[in-house]
Amino acid sequence: MQTIQLNTKSRPSTVFCGKGALFLRGKDVFVVTDSNVYRLYKELIAEKFAGGVCVVPAGERHKNRNTLFKILDSMLEARLHRSSVVVALGGGVVGDMAGFTAALYMRGTRLIQIPTTLLAQVDSSVGGKTAIDYRGVKNVLGAFYQPERVYCDPLFFNTLPPREIKCGLGEIIKTGVLDAVVGDKIRQNADKLRDLGFLHELAADCVRFKARVVEQDETERGGLRKCLNMGHTTGHALELLYGRRSHGEYVLIGMWLESYIAEGEGVCSHEYAEEVRKTVALAEPRIPRFASPEECIRFALLDKKNEEKDKISFILPKARGEYAEYSLSAERFAEYLKLLQENRA
Ligand code: ADP
Ligand code: ZN
Repeated sequence: MQTIQLNTKSRPSTVFCGKGALFLRGKDVFVVTDSNVYRLYKELIAEKFAGGVCVVPAGERHKNRNTLFKILDSMLEARLHRSSVVVALGGGVVGDMAGFTAALYMRGTRLIQIPTTLLAQVDSSVGGKTAIDYRGVKNVLGAFYQPERVYCDPLFFNTLPPREIKCGLGEIIKTGVLDAVVGDKIRQNADKLRDLGFLHELAADCVRFKARVVEQDETERGGLRKCLNMGHTTGHALELLYGRRSHGEYVLIGMWLESYIAEGEGVCSHEYAEEVRKTVALAEPRIPRFASPEECIRFALLDKKNEEKDKISFILPKARGEYAEYSLSAERFAEYLKLLQENRA
């Protein structure tokens, strides 16, 4: 098992990664989980955690204020106090909502994240971002709230549908483009990218990378943390436009397109852009038939990273382990989007 320490200004956080990482047990912990995870892991919850359980409906569309208040109501009913421990047991949606309620309730209770999806293990459970969607805007209400501990145990992978594995793989590949060591490991073991044990090993590498980034820039104000948004400008816009596929797959498609932007705008060499595309292709994203560049641009213009009017901000690959923030006009973005229309995967 690996232990990764994350020391931010707000609170130190420890991530335990590996088989048997979930050694936590406790009478006084309050578990927040979703209906799917509860159905699959009811016995485990009953065996390990004797405190209350709040089960919320599964799915991103429930990441809203109704569910937030449902959780807060049950925390009040369970008479949690400030030193009670809230455990977020589930994927990124549960982590976001339980994390946010933990930040709100009595101005902050103790928080432990137990991510049960690959995506949540490599990405969302680490770093302290919590949020809900509101009035159609993703993650618009939230807080930075570091969990005291995160337990990344592969025991949960056995029940994950393939779509969810692919979703996590998207963020793993993104880390491989940002970090040269993770990238080499991915390229050298391309035949193992469907092997859950190997993915778990990569997940720990991704957590280590993310921990170093978050330590230097916890609240994304210094700029460094923005690098984690590589592929996300295009990815989020497509996700808002089409839905259905997983977040990670859209990130892969975003990185594929943004490698052309990086090359076309002179941010990286053709050779490096090709390397990014080859790395992305290892996860076999299906590039969608693309019909609506105007809509995609409209969504991209709403991106939180944008700072200049009518310009869209991207985190572009520059060289191995290097990236650059780049603003592109909507017109230029439209030209690159044609690549998706031509479906040149
Ligand atoms: P994310 O992909 O951001 O981690 P979610 O929290 O929406 O997102 O989780 C994706 C879906 O997978 C949800 O329907 C959730 O209930 C389900 N899920 C979470 N963990 C597991 C698991 N270990 N096995 C099977 N399904 C799971
Ligand atoms: Zn992401």
